[in-house]
Amino acid sequence: MSKIAERLTIVQDNIAAACARIGRNPEKVQLVVVTKTASMEDIQEVVRLGCTHLGENRVQHLKQVAEDLDAYLATHKDEPGIPQKVHWHMIGHLQRNKAKLVLKVASLIHSVDTLRLAEELNSLSAKQDLRTEVLLQINCSDELQKSGAPVGAAVHLAEQIGTMPNLRLVGLMTMAPLTLNKDLVRSCFVRARELFEEIRGEKIAGNKFRHLSMGMSQDYEIAIEYGATILRIGSAIFS
Ligand SMILES: *Cc1c(COP(=O)(O)O)cnc(C)c1O
Repeated sequence: MSKIAERLTIVQDNIAAACARIGRNPEKVQLVVVTKTASMEDIQEVVRLGCTHLGENRVQHLKQVAEDLDAYLATHKDEPGIPQKVHWHMIGHLQRNKAKLVLKVASLIHSVDTLRLAEELNSLSAKQDLRTEVLLQINCSDELQKSGAPVGAAVHLAEQIGTMPNLRLVGLMTMAPLTLNKDLVRSCFVRARELFEEIRGEKIAGNKFRHLSMGMSQDYEIAIEYGATILRIGSAIFS
C-alpha cells in the first residue's frame, strides 16, 4: 500500500469508529480531501482511491488544479477507479473580486461570511442563471480569526442569504481554534451546532439547510461527535 493509501485508510477507519461510538451513519459524513499542499500526482491518487470531493482554499489554485485534474480524468476515463467527475469545494477566504472565477469551478462554497460577499455571489449567479450552493462561515472561537461571521450576527445573515434567489444556503462552516486544548475545540463545535439547530429549527434558510462543515486533521473525530456532516481533511492524508 502506498503512503497515501495507508493514511487515507486510517482516516476512513477513524471516521467509521467515531461514528460507531455515537451511533451515527458514516454515510452521512462527507469527507472532503483538502489538496492545497498536495502534488498533482497525489491528487490523482486519492481520486483513484475513491475520493471525489476535494477542497482548495485559493481560487486561482483551485481553478488550475481542477483543470489539470479534469484533463487527467479525460485521458484515463476508461481505466478502473476513474470517476466521471469530481466535486470541488472552495473552503478558503473568498475575496469579492475572485467570486466570478469560483462560480464556474466550485460545487459548494464554504466561506461566505459577509452580506457583501453573498450579494456579489447572488448577482453573479443570477447573470449566469445559477443557483449557487453556499455555507455560511461562522467564527465560533474567541480567537481573532480573519474570517467567519461573528456568532451573534449569524442568524440575521442566514435570514438575509436565505432570501437571495440565486443562492442556496445549505449549512454552516466553521474552524476550531488551532490548539491542543480539546475543551476549546469542543466549545467551538458546540456553538456551531447550536447555531445550526437554531437556524434549521426555525426554518430560517429553508429545507435545504442540512450541512455542518467542521473538523480538520486535528479535530475531525471530535467534530463528528457534534454532528459534522462535512469534514475537511488535508495534512492527515498528505503529509
Ligand atoms: C487547510 C484547511 C483545512 C484542512 O486542514 P488540515 O489540518 O490540513 O486537515 C480545512 N479547512 C480549511 C478552511 C483549510 O484552509
